Amino acid sequence: MPDDRTNSWEARAEASSFYGFTDLPTVHSRGTVVLTHGEGPYVVDVHGRRYLDANSGLWNMVAGFDHPGLIEAAQAQYARFPGYHAFFGRMSDQTVMLSEKLVEVSPFERGRVFYTNSGSEANDTMVKMLWFLHAAEGNPQRRKILTRWNGYHGVTAVSASMTGKPYNSVFGLPLPGFLHLSCPHYWRFGQEGESEAEFTQRMAKELEATIIKEGPETIAGFFAEPVMGAGGVIPPSSGYFQAVVPILRKYGIPIISDEVITGFGRTGEVWGCETFDFVPDAIISSKNLTAGFFPMGAVILGPELSDRMQAAAEAIEEFPHGFTASGHPVGCAIALKAIDVVMNEGLLENVRALTPRFEAGLARLAEKPNIGEWRGKGLMGAVEAVKDKATKTPFAGDLSVSERIANACTDAGLICRPLGQAVVLCPAFVMTEAQMDEMFDKLDSALDKVFAEVA
Ligand code: PMP
Repeated sequence: MPDDRTNSWEARAEASSFYGFTDLPTVHSRGTVVLTHGEGPYVVDVHGRRYLDANSGLWNMVAGFDHPGLIEAAQAQYARFPGYHAFFGRMSDQTVMLSEKLVEVSPFERGRVFYTNSGSEANDTMVKMLWFLHAAEGNPQRRKILTRWNGYHGVTAVSASMTGKPYNSVFGLPLPGFLHLSCPHYWRFGQEGESEAEFTQRMAKELEATIIKEGPETIAGFFAEPVMGAGGVIPPSSGYFQAVVPILRKYGIPIISDEVITGFGRTGEVWGCETFDFVPDAIISSKNLTAGFFPMGAVILGPELSDRMQAAAEAIEEFPHGFTASGHPVGCAIALKAIDVVMNEGLLENVRALTPRFEAGLARLAEKPNIGEWRGKGLMGAVEAVKDKATKTPFAGDLSVSERIANACTDAGLICRPLGQAVVLCPAFVMTEAQMDEMFDKLDSALDKVFAEVA
């Protein structure tokens, strides 16, 4: 690191912080981007450089970084009641109001809500709920959890076990009993001569064969993101949920829709399960729930699981689980405002209005000889770099193509995320057409620059 950076923010960050999900050689060579504030969908660093954040933070800052209504809701609630829990038969009025609102906007006609601080904890909580429920109903052997390769469900020991990423082997995960089905990404995993419909059928057959092999009486639940996010923005192959849901129903396996990214409008409907036309038994929410203004997650139980969980808890007089900040009043007040902002202040409409421009922008990038595929749903999308378009051969890993693209974007004032060999875009719902054009122009130039170096 150059001497002039010894006392810099970059040097201080590296000396004082243990980084997670960060490529350390990149940080050592380029320095940490230390940010001070945001303006709409832009963030500003300590040197005054502005970046258009094409990932809305970590998929979550959907209303931008300075939404006055959200700041006001937070300030008002901090002044009124700055913190409380939801234990021992006490909770804040905001918590009650948010639970009612979440059930009202959910696809369920009734249900109940449980709060956490994050998406990981919400998935972890849901797994514990299923284990608790099945044991209470006399089926303690129903503990296995079904997820998919490339699915991302979090980082706690349980949610990391659900996540279908090989990097978790460094922790000795997954834990036993967490089973990963194939990733339903037709472009990458479809076989020679196999149609998309045949591919989907193969996914469904694999699911049923797995259930039969493991024994349906040993399976606690199935978790899926409607569109895989951190796996590389992977919408399912066509008809996927229509093929797998009836099989899960046939064997009485609860279906959990992990909507940490897709919830509250990302795919153009309030919920991703609505976009893909299936009704789960429970929904996992976080991120957009508070428009990223407060760390919060929620498990939203549909009517059947809500009734069964309530009965199971009544039988032993309590559900022994909860976090100090579960149902935090400030988080709940912010979430109430965020839901209002997304649903009633034109953000959901803007997602729908911008989607054709977003898709056209991705499709234009995919005309490049080294882009193998564009994919996406609503305002979440990706382009995948390939060495050879015809054979879909990826670039050699040591070329770090997507990291180079992301770095070239950063140099040009655009933040976007490398994931495998894909570059992921997940813009804020408040983006304007001009900002979207700026995003695509900058990414286009970055792709040309990097492909000229490596192709
Ligand atoms: N589920 C999904 C679908 C996610 O995208 C994420 C976070 N990217 C999580 C769970 C975990 O959420 P958190 O990082 O808040 O723990």
